[in-house]
Amino acid sequence: MIKIAYFSAEIGISSSLPTYSGGLGVLAGDHIKAAADAGLSMCAVTLLYKEGYFKQRVDEEGNQTETYPRFDPDPLLKRLPVTFTLRLRERDVWIQAYEYRYKGLNDHEIPIYFLDTDVEHNFYDDRQITLRLYSGDKDHRILQEAILGFGGIRLLEQLDLMDIETYHMNEGHCSFLVLGLLERFNGNEEEVRKRCHFTTHTPVPAGHDHFSMERCKKLLHGLLPEDLKLPSIVQNSRLHMTELGLYYSRSANGVSKLHGIIAQNQFPDFKIGAITNGVYHPFWIGKTFRELYDVQLPGWRENPNRLLEKDAVSDEELLAAHKSLKQFLLGYANSQTQKALSSDVLTVGFARRAAEYKRARLIFHDMERLIAIGHGKVQFIFAGKAHPQDERGKQILKEIIQNANRLFGKVKIVFLENYNIWLGRLITAGVDVWLNTPLRPNEACGTSGMKAALNGIPNLSVMDGWWAEGCINGVNGWAIGDTETSDDARDAAQLYDLLENDVIPTYYEDEKRWLSLMRESIRVGVRFTGYRMIREYTDKYYKVKSQT
Ligand SMILES: *Cc1c(COP(=O)(O)O)cnc(C)c1O
Repeated sequence: MIKIAYFSAEIGISSSLPTYSGGLGVLAGDHIKAAADAGLSMCAVTLLYKEGYFKQRVDEEGNQTETYPRFDPDPLLKRLPVTFTLRLRERDVWIQAYEYRYKGLNDHEIPIYFLDTDVEHNFYDDRQITLRLYSGDKDHRILQEAILGFGGIRLLEQLDLMDIETYHMNEGHCSFLVLGLLERFNGNEEEVRKRCHFTTHTPVPAGHDHFSMERCKKLLHGLLPEDLKLPSIVQNSRLHMTELGLYYSRSANGVSKLHGIIAQNQFPDFKIGAITNGVYHPFWIGKTFRELYDVQLPGWRENPNRLLEKDAVSDEELLAAHKSLKQFLLGYANSQTQKALSSDVLTVGFARRAAEYKRARLIFHDMERLIAIGHGKVQFIFAGKAHPQDERGKQILKEIIQNANRLFGKVKIVFLENYNIWLGRLITAGVDVWLNTPLRPNEACGTSGMKAALNGIPNLSVMDGWWAEGCINGVNGWAIGDTETSDDARDAAQLYDLLENDVIPTYYEDEKRWLSLMRESIRVGVRFTGYRMIREYTDKYYKVKSQT
C-alpha cells in the first residue's frame, strides 16, 4: 500500500511533459525522483495540461509571444481505466486519469497521476479546465484547484489507495484536498489533520491564492462544507488556500532556513519548520561530468557524498569536463542568436522566471560601469519566461533585450528563448559563473544556483534563500549584500566591484584559485541535493507516530 501522496499543481518530471512552469514544478519533479531512489512508498497527483504552460518566442525588440503546442499523452502516459465525476458549476464534470510511472535507480517506482477534463462527454467549457497551467481568471483557477484537490482525493479512492499516511501538499493550490478528506472522515478535523503536511514556497503575497468565498460557493456548490467560517481561513469573505492547508495539517515547512523564519512570521498561528530544497543531482549534473563520475566514482548517483572524494577527479579532468559543457552551451546559443559568443570569455548566466523581485535589471544599473568593467571580458546568457498575463513580467523581458541591444558591440548579452528543463540544464551546467540578484528576502530558496554549484560553477548572488546557507564568501563564490536588507544602488555597486576586482581577474589570471572555487562549489553543492532533502522530509515529516 502506498503511504505518501504528494500533491502539486505542477510537476516537471521530463522535458517531454510540459506540465510545469518553473521552480515549483521542477522542484516537485526532483522531489519525486529523489523519493523514488530512496525507495519511498509514494504516489503523486497533479493535473494534465495538454497545452502545457506555453512555448515562448521573444522578438528582437523583446516582445514575448506565446504558442500552445498540444502534446499527445498517449505514448508517454498510460490512460487508466478510471473515470469519475466531480460536480462543478452544478453539473457533472468527467475526469480521466493518466499514469506516468517514474522509475528510480533501483527500479523502485512512483506513479504520478495526471487528471484531465478534456474528455469527450464534457461540455466545451469543462474540457478547458485542465488544458493550460495557470491560465484563465480566478473562476478558472478555483475550478482547476477543485479538480486537483477534491478530484485527487476521489481518484485515490477509485484506485483503492485508502491507507495514505501522509498527504503532502506542495503549496496552497492543492489545499482543497483537506476538504475532500474532511468529507471522508465525516467532519472529524483530527482525522484529517493527522494525515496532512504542508509546504509553503514563497514569501511573496501574490504567490498565495485567495478566492472570493461567494465565487467558491457558487462554483463548488455541494463540495464546500456549510460551516467553513474559520477566521484564519476565510478573511474578508475570501478563502485563503495557504491558511486552509495549514489549518488542517499536522506539520508544515518553508523551503530554506531563512524562509522558514519568514514563513513563521507570515503565518504566526501555525508552527512552521524548514527544509531547504535540493536538486536531483543525477539529472542536473552535465553529461561530461556524469561520464567522468560513472568511471571514477561509481555509486555517485545513489549517494552524492561520493562527490566529496576530492582527488578522484584531476584538475585537468575538471577543467576539460566544464569546457566541454561550456562549448555545448555556446554552440547552442550561437546557433540561436548569431552573437558569436566566445568560449575564451568569462560567461555569466542568469535564468529564471521574469518576476519583479528577481531583479534582472540589477546588472544594468550603471551601463557605463558595466561596459568599463566588462568590455571584451564578460558575456551574459539570459533566459526566462513571463507569465502570459503578467504585463510587468513581459516588461522585464523587454528591458533585458533592449539593454542587450544598447550594449551591442560592447558587452555581449544573449537571450535564449523558451526556458525549460532542457535549456535549464544546458545553462546551469555550461556557464562559468551563476548570477542571482533577488530582492531579499523574497527568494524563498532558489534552486538554479544549486544546479550550477553541482556543476562546479561558482555563484555570485544576493545572500537570500539557499545561498544565505551555502555561501562561503570568496571560497565557493561571492556574496552580494548582507543578510539584512536589499538596496538596488548598493547591491549593484557591490556586484560591479566584485566583478571588477575579484571575479574577472581571478578567472583570467589565477587558474589555481578558480579551480578551488569550482571544487568548493561542488563540495558545498552536495549539501543541496534531493538526496539530502528527501531524507530530511522522511525523518522530520513523513514518519508517522504510531497510532495506538
Ligand atoms: C531550476 C529551474 C527553475 C527554478 O530556478 P530558481 O533558481 O528557483 O528561479 C525554474 N525553471 C527551470 C526550467 C528550472 O530548471
